[in-house]
Amino acid sequence: MTAALLQIDQLVAAYGKIEALKGVSLSVAAGSVTCLLGPNGAGKTTLMMTIAGLLRPRSGTICFDGRELTGQPPHAVVAQGIALVPEQRLLFPSMSVRDNLLAGAYSRNDKQQIAADLARMLARFPRLKERAGQRAGTLSGGEQQMLALARALMSRPKLLLLDEPSLGLAPLVVEDIFRLIVEISTEGTSILLVEQNAQMALKLAHHVYLIEQGRISYSGAPAQLAADQLVQRAYLGSA
Ligand code: ATP
Repeated sequence: MTAALLQIDQLVAAYGKIEALKGVSLSVAAGSVTCLLGPNGAGKTTLMMTIAGLLRPRSGTICFDGRELTGQPPHAVVAQGIALVPEQRLLFPSMSVRDNLLAGAYSRNDKQQIAADLARMLARFPRLKERAGQRAGTLSGGEQQMLALARALMSRPKLLLLDEPSLGLAPLVVEDIFRLIVEISTEGTSILLVEQNAQMALKLAHHVYLIEQGRISYSGAPAQLAADQLVQRAYLGSA
Protein backbone atom coordinates (compact mmCIF):
# COMPACT_ATOMS: atom_id res chain seq x y z
CA MET A 1 0.00 0.00 0.00
CA THR A 2 1.13 3.55 -0.72
CA ALA A 3 2.16 5.57 2.31
CA ALA A 4 -0.19 8.34 3.41
CA LEU A 5 1.10 11.83 2.71
CA LEU A 6 -1.69 13.40 4.74
CA GLN A 7 -3.19 11.63 7.72
CA ILE A 8 -6.06 13.14 9.67
CA ASP A 9 -7.36 11.53 12.84
CA GLN A 10 -10.53 12.33 14.76
CA LEU A 11 -10.57 15.99 13.77
CA VAL A 12 -13.11 18.18 15.54
CA ALA A 13 -13.62 21.79 14.43
CA ALA A 14 -16.32 24.23 15.45
CA TYR A 15 -17.62 27.76 14.98
CA GLY A 16 -18.71 28.69 18.48
CA LYS A 17 -21.33 26.12 19.41
CA ILE A 18 -21.68 24.75 15.87
CA GLU A 19 -19.54 21.65 15.48
CA ALA A 20 -18.79 21.45 11.76
CA LEU A 21 -16.38 18.49 11.96
CA LYS A 22 -17.31 15.82 14.48
CA GLY A 23 -14.31 13.51 14.48
CA VAL A 24 -13.16 13.27 10.86
CA SER A 25 -10.46 10.76 9.93
CA LEU A 26 -9.10 10.49 6.42
CA SER A 27 -5.87 10.08 4.52
CA VAL A 28 -4.43 11.11 1.18
CA ALA A 29 -2.00 8.62 -0.33
CA ALA A 30 1.16 10.06 -1.89
CA GLY A 31 0.60 10.65 -5.61
CA SER A 32 -3.16 10.20 -5.43
CA VAL A 33 -6.21 12.27 -6.25
CA THR A 34 -8.51 11.89 -3.26
CA CYS A 35 -11.99 13.27 -3.62
CA LEU A 36 -14.29 14.52 -0.88
CA LEU A 37 -17.97 14.63 -1.78
CA GLY A 38 -20.89 15.75 0.35
CA PRO A 39 -23.98 17.92 0.49
CA ASN A 40 -24.01 21.63 1.27
CA GLY A 41 -23.00 22.39 4.83
CA ALA A 42 -21.45 18.94 5.40
CA GLY A 43 -18.10 20.41 6.49
CA LYS A 44 -16.01 20.16 3.32
CA THR A 45 -14.74 23.75 3.32
CA THR A 46 -14.22 23.61 7.07
CA LEU A 47 -11.97 20.58 6.62
CA MET A 48 -9.93 22.32 3.91
CA MET A 49 -9.57 25.45 6.04
CA THR A 50 -8.51 23.43 9.06
CA ILE A 51 -5.84 21.56 7.08
CA ALA A 52 -4.59 24.89 5.68
CA GLY A 53 -4.23 26.31 9.19
CA LEU A 54 -6.95 28.94 8.77
CA LEU A 55 -9.09 27.36 11.49
CA ARG A 56 -7.72 25.76 14.67
CA PRO A 57 -9.25 22.38 15.42
CA ARG A 58 -10.76 21.69 18.86
CA SER A 59 -9.15 18.27 18.90
CA GLY A 60 -7.69 15.58 16.67
CA THR A 61 -4.47 15.51 14.68
CA ILE A 62 -3.23 16.44 11.21
CA CYS A 63 0.01 14.76 10.13
CA PHE A 64 1.72 15.62 6.87
CA ASP A 65 4.78 14.01 5.37
CA GLY A 66 5.68 12.42 8.69
CA ARG A 67 5.24 15.58 10.82
CA GLU A 68 2.41 16.82 12.96
CA LEU A 69 0.86 20.00 11.57
CA THR A 70 -2.10 20.39 13.94
CA GLY A 71 -2.69 24.02 14.90
CA GLN A 72 0.19 25.44 12.81
CA PRO A 73 -0.43 28.85 11.20
CA PRO A 74 -1.14 29.07 7.44
CA HIS A 75 2.36 30.24 6.44
CA ALA A 76 3.93 27.27 8.23
CA VAL A 77 1.51 24.91 6.47
CA VAL A 78 2.44 26.39 3.07
CA ALA A 79 6.13 26.12 3.93
CA GLN A 80 5.63 22.39 4.69
CA GLY A 81 4.23 21.87 1.18
CA ILE A 82 0.45 22.30 1.30
CA ALA A 83 -1.32 24.86 -0.92
CA LEU A 84 -5.03 25.69 -0.77
CA VAL A 85 -7.05 26.94 -3.73
CA PRO A 86 -10.07 28.27 -1.83
CA GLU A 87 -13.62 28.13 -3.09
CA GLN A 88 -13.78 31.92 -3.54
CA ARG A 89 -10.33 31.88 -5.23
CA LEU A 90 -9.27 34.93 -3.15
CA LEU A 91 -7.08 36.55 -5.76
CA PHE A 92 -5.74 40.06 -5.27
CA PRO A 93 -8.11 41.73 -7.77
CA SER A 94 -6.26 45.03 -8.17
CA MET A 95 -2.86 43.37 -8.56
CA SER A 96 -1.61 42.11 -11.92
CA VAL A 97 -1.77 38.47 -12.95
CA ARG A 98 2.05 38.34 -12.67
CA ASP A 99 2.05 39.76 -9.13
CA ASN A 100 -0.68 37.34 -8.06
CA LEU A 101 1.54 34.49 -9.28
CA LEU A 102 4.55 35.88 -7.43
CA ALA A 103 2.42 36.18 -4.27
CA GLY A 104 2.02 32.39 -4.44
CA ALA A 105 5.75 32.03 -3.88
CA TYR A 106 5.83 34.18 -0.73
CA SER A 107 7.05 31.31 1.44
CA ARG A 108 10.11 30.78 -0.80
CA ASN A 109 13.31 32.79 -1.01
CA ASP A 110 15.04 31.14 -3.99
CA LYS A 111 14.71 34.17 -6.28
CA GLN A 112 16.14 32.60 -9.43
CA GLN A 113 13.99 29.50 -9.10
CA ILE A 114 10.91 31.66 -8.50
CA ALA A 115 11.62 33.62 -11.70
CA ALA A 116 12.08 30.34 -13.59
CA ASP A 117 8.82 28.94 -12.15
CA LEU A 118 6.99 32.15 -13.11
CA ALA A 119 8.23 31.79 -16.70
CA ARG A 120 7.20 28.13 -16.72
CA MET A 121 3.76 28.96 -15.34
CA LEU A 122 3.19 31.65 -18.00
CA ALA A 123 4.30 29.20 -20.71
CA ARG A 124 1.90 26.60 -19.36
CA PHE A 125 -1.05 29.00 -19.17
CA PRO A 126 -0.95 31.03 -22.40
CA ARG A 127 -4.09 32.96 -21.46
CA LEU A 128 -2.40 34.14 -18.28
CA LYS A 129 0.73 35.03 -20.25
CA GLU A 130 -1.28 37.22 -22.62
CA ARG A 131 -2.80 38.90 -19.56
CA ALA A 132 0.28 38.98 -17.30
CA GLY A 133 0.12 42.76 -16.82
CA GLN A 134 -3.67 42.91 -16.51
CA ARG A 135 -5.45 43.28 -13.15
CA ALA A 136 -6.62 39.91 -11.87
CA GLY A 137 -10.09 41.28 -11.12
CA THR A 138 -10.70 41.82 -14.83
CA LEU A 139 -10.22 38.13 -15.76
CA SER A 140 -13.12 35.83 -16.64
CA GLY A 141 -14.25 33.24 -14.08
CA GLY A 142 -12.35 30.44 -15.81
CA GLU A 143 -9.19 32.53 -16.11
CA GLN A 144 -9.43 33.45 -12.43
CA GLN A 145 -9.67 29.76 -11.50
CA MET A 146 -6.60 29.04 -13.67
CA LEU A 147 -4.76 31.89 -11.94
CA ALA A 148 -5.75 30.62 -8.48
CA LEU A 149 -4.43 27.18 -9.41
CA ALA A 150 -1.24 28.54 -10.95
CA ARG A 151 -0.67 30.77 -7.91
CA ALA A 152 -0.96 27.73 -5.62
CA LEU A 153 1.53 25.82 -7.79
CA MET A 154 4.04 28.68 -7.34
CA SER A 155 4.60 27.47 -3.77
CA ARG A 156 5.75 24.10 -5.21
CA PRO A 157 3.29 22.12 -3.10
CA LYS A 158 3.45 18.40 -2.41
CA LEU A 159 -0.28 18.50 -1.70
CA LEU A 160 -2.84 20.70 -3.41
CA LEU A 161 -6.18 21.33 -1.67
CA LEU A 162 -8.81 22.23 -4.29
CA ASP A 163 -12.13 23.48 -2.95
CA GLU A 164 -14.78 23.22 -5.67
CA PRO A 165 -12.61 24.34 -8.59
CA SER A 166 -15.44 23.90 -11.11
CA LEU A 167 -17.95 26.07 -9.24
CA GLY A 168 -19.75 28.54 -11.49
CA LEU A 169 -17.77 27.70 -14.61
CA ALA A 170 -19.02 26.81 -18.09
CA PRO A 171 -18.83 23.10 -19.06
CA LEU A 172 -15.94 23.57 -21.50
CA VAL A 173 -13.93 25.46 -18.90
CA VAL A 174 -14.71 22.75 -16.34
CA GLU A 175 -13.22 20.21 -18.74
CA ASP A 176 -10.06 22.33 -19.01
CA ILE A 177 -9.80 22.51 -15.22
CA PHE A 178 -10.21 18.76 -14.81
CA ARG A 179 -7.63 18.08 -17.54
CA LEU A 180 -5.27 20.33 -15.64
CA ILE A 181 -5.93 18.50 -12.36
CA VAL A 182 -4.99 15.20 -14.03
CA GLU A 183 -1.81 16.79 -15.45
CA ILE A 184 -0.78 18.20 -12.07
CA SER A 185 -1.40 14.84 -10.44
CA THR A 186 0.60 13.00 -13.13
CA GLU A 187 3.51 15.35 -12.45
CA GLY A 188 3.59 14.04 -8.87
CA THR A 189 1.55 16.51 -6.83
CA SER A 190 -1.01 14.82 -4.57
CA ILE A 191 -4.49 16.31 -4.59
CA LEU A 192 -7.39 16.54 -2.17
CA LEU A 193 -10.38 17.63 -4.23
CA VAL A 194 -13.74 18.87 -2.95
CA GLU A 195 -16.32 18.79 -5.73
CA GLN A 196 -20.05 19.17 -6.31
CA ASN A 197 -19.53 17.79 -9.79
CA ALA A 198 -19.43 14.18 -8.60
CA GLN A 199 -19.60 12.65 -12.07
CA MET A 200 -16.41 14.43 -13.16
CA ALA A 201 -14.64 13.93 -9.84
CA LEU A 202 -15.27 10.19 -9.74
CA LYS A 203 -13.63 9.83 -13.15
CA LEU A 204 -10.27 11.04 -11.91
CA ALA A 205 -10.28 10.13 -8.21
CA HIS A 206 -8.26 7.21 -6.88
CA HIS A 207 -10.11 7.27 -3.58
CA VAL A 208 -13.37 8.87 -2.48
CA TYR A 209 -14.74 9.98 0.87
CA LEU A 210 -18.29 11.06 1.53
CA ILE A 211 -18.87 13.53 4.34
CA GLU A 212 -22.29 14.15 5.85
CA GLN A 213 -23.06 16.39 8.82
CA GLY A 214 -19.43 16.57 9.85
CA ARG A 215 -18.78 12.83 9.72
CA ILE A 216 -17.21 10.58 7.09
CA SER A 217 -19.97 8.25 5.91
CA TYR A 218 -18.12 6.41 3.13
CA SER A 219 -14.53 5.69 2.18
CA GLY A 220 -13.60 3.58 -0.81
CA ALA A 221 -12.96 3.23 -4.50
CA PRO A 222 -14.93 5.46 -6.93
CA ALA A 223 -16.34 2.43 -8.76
CA GLN A 224 -17.87 1.09 -5.54
CA LEU A 225 -19.39 4.45 -4.75
CA ALA A 226 -20.79 4.86 -8.25
CA ALA A 227 -22.45 1.44 -7.91
CA ASP A 228 -24.19 2.36 -4.66
CA GLN A 229 -27.79 3.21 -5.53
CA LEU A 230 -28.44 5.46 -2.57
CA VAL A 231 -25.36 7.48 -3.37
CA GLN A 232 -26.32 7.50 -7.03
CA ARG A 233 -29.60 9.15 -6.15
CA ALA A 234 -28.14 11.60 -3.68
CA TYR A 235 -24.98 12.73 -5.43
CA LEU A 236 -24.86 11.60 -9.00
CA GLY A 237 -28.23 12.88 -10.10
CA SER A 238 -29.54 9.55 -11.36
CA ALA A 239 -32.21 7.18 -10.07
P1 ATP B 1 -20.85 23.97 0.83
O1 ATP B 1 -20.87 22.83 -0.13
O2 ATP B 1 -22.20 24.63 0.94
O3 ATP B 1 -19.73 24.92 0.64
P2 ATP B 1 -19.45 22.65 3.03
O4 ATP B 1 -19.59 21.17 3.03
O5 ATP B 1 -18.21 23.23 2.51
O6 ATP B 1 -20.71 23.28 2.29
P3 ATP B 1 -18.92 24.15 5.44
O7 ATP B 1 -18.84 25.47 4.75
O8 ATP B 1 -17.67 23.53 5.91
O9 ATP B 1 -19.71 23.10 4.53
O10 ATP B 1 -19.94 24.32 6.67
C1 ATP B 1 -20.11 23.31 7.67
C2 ATP B 1 -21.04 23.83 8.76
O11 ATP B 1 -20.40 24.89 9.47
C3 ATP B 1 -22.35 24.40 8.25
O12 ATP B 1 -23.35 24.06 9.17
C4 ATP B 1 -22.12 25.90 8.24
O13 ATP B 1 -23.33 26.59 8.43
C5 ATP B 1 -21.18 26.08 9.41
N1 ATP B 1 -20.27 27.23 9.18
C6 ATP B 1 -19.40 27.38 8.16
N2 ATP B 1 -18.70 28.53 8.28
C7 ATP B 1 -19.15 29.13 9.41
C8 ATP B 1 -18.85 30.35 10.09
N3 ATP B 1 -17.90 31.18 9.63
N4 ATP B 1 -19.54 30.62 11.22
C9 ATP B 1 -20.48 29.78 11.70
N5 ATP B 1 -20.83 28.62 11.11
C10 ATP B 1 -20.18 28.29 9.98
